[in-house]
Amino acid sequence: MRDLRSLIEACAKRFDADIVGFAPVSRFSPDDAVFRVFPGTKTVIGLGFRVLRGIYRCVEEGTTYYQYTTMGVENLEETVMPMALINVANLIEEEGFEAIPQRRNQLIMAETDGTNPEVDYSDVRRGVTAENQIDFLHCAVLCGLGEESMIHSLLTKDYGPFIRYCFILTDAELEETPLVTETLCDRCGECIRACPGHALAEDGTMDTWRCAVYYNGANGSKNPFMPPEAYAELENRMDVINGTAEFDAEGAREILNDTYFYPPAKHFYRTSICGRACDRACYIHLEEKGLLGKTFRKRFRSGADWKLDTSQFETGIHETSWVISRKEPSGGTENT
Ligand code: SF4
Ligand code: SF4
Repeated sequence: MRDLRSLIEACAKRFDADIVGFAPVSRFSPDDAVFRVFPGTKTVIGLGFRVLRGIYRCVEEGTTYYQYTTMGVENLEETVMPMALINVANLIEEEGFEAIPQRRNQLIMAETDGTNPEVDYSDVRRGVTAENQIDFLHCAVLCGLGEESMIHSLLTKDYGPFIRYCFILTDAELEETPLVTETLCDRCGECIRACPGHALAEDGTMDTWRCAVYYNGANGSKNPFMPPEAYAELENRMDVINGTAEFDAEGAREILNDTYFYPPAKHFYRTSICGRACDRACYIHLEEKGLLGKTFRKRFRSGADWKLDTSQFETGIHETSWVISRKEPSGGTENT
């Protein structure tokens, strides 16, 4: 047999995968969902795709928001990753083995009352049994793509949290990739503090409804598109706008019904107005500590983060006043 593992790696990289990892079945417990999806699984192949730092640059500077959602989420999930999956799977099947691509289904979840901030909450089917859904984060760790952080994101050596991933299950036995043993997450809490909606608890647990509300832009200090009359019907509108409101899932639905300040991307991915502040804060932290393998000439963040003055929503007069501005509007400081 040809060196299938090397052929798979080369093919995956030709179709834009940045990290490729191989997990033997011995790393999975016998009741893992991978065996319900494909009982003949001998290897799980993980493919990691960087989200361009330049795409985060736009939300970091507050200049444009569409690129993260279209290029960083939609294009990767709907075009780039499927292309890599289908080509690697075709290659495996050419060699006489079966290959089962595994893309994340954004619209179903096992939880009965949670949501996925990346899509419209009303499109999500809750309580769908996890019986035949693989655990994506768990598989990524077992494939050696990276480690699980305290907020349950995947941290990779080269790209930190700026990564998306998918898998192929196959009956081909392939040489394993070592598990990641270095620890990047030091539980610093920068990610938790960076969230404009306080959606992450001290222990790293995410309130997915809070996340959805503020991912979609409910914090006026971080939303250049919010009109002055935003949330006029809400009694606690200023608490919502300031990111301090208390609400349950029903309250979150009410806020989300009034949170359409920016058109969603095709394939119904919601536009991220928070710009994944949690992940950017983590990336900045890892870069400052010199832990990222992929380095840049300039640091990602050069000065204080920006904020808009939410008092403008009290008067109803829309002024885009920047209470904290950057030392340099773009490009960051030298990364020495
Ligand atoms: S910012 Fe990153 S390193 Fe720090 S606690 Fe959060 S995930 Fe861990
Ligand atoms: S920063 Fe954005 S993505 Fe991260 S937890 Fe907060 S709302 Fe969610």
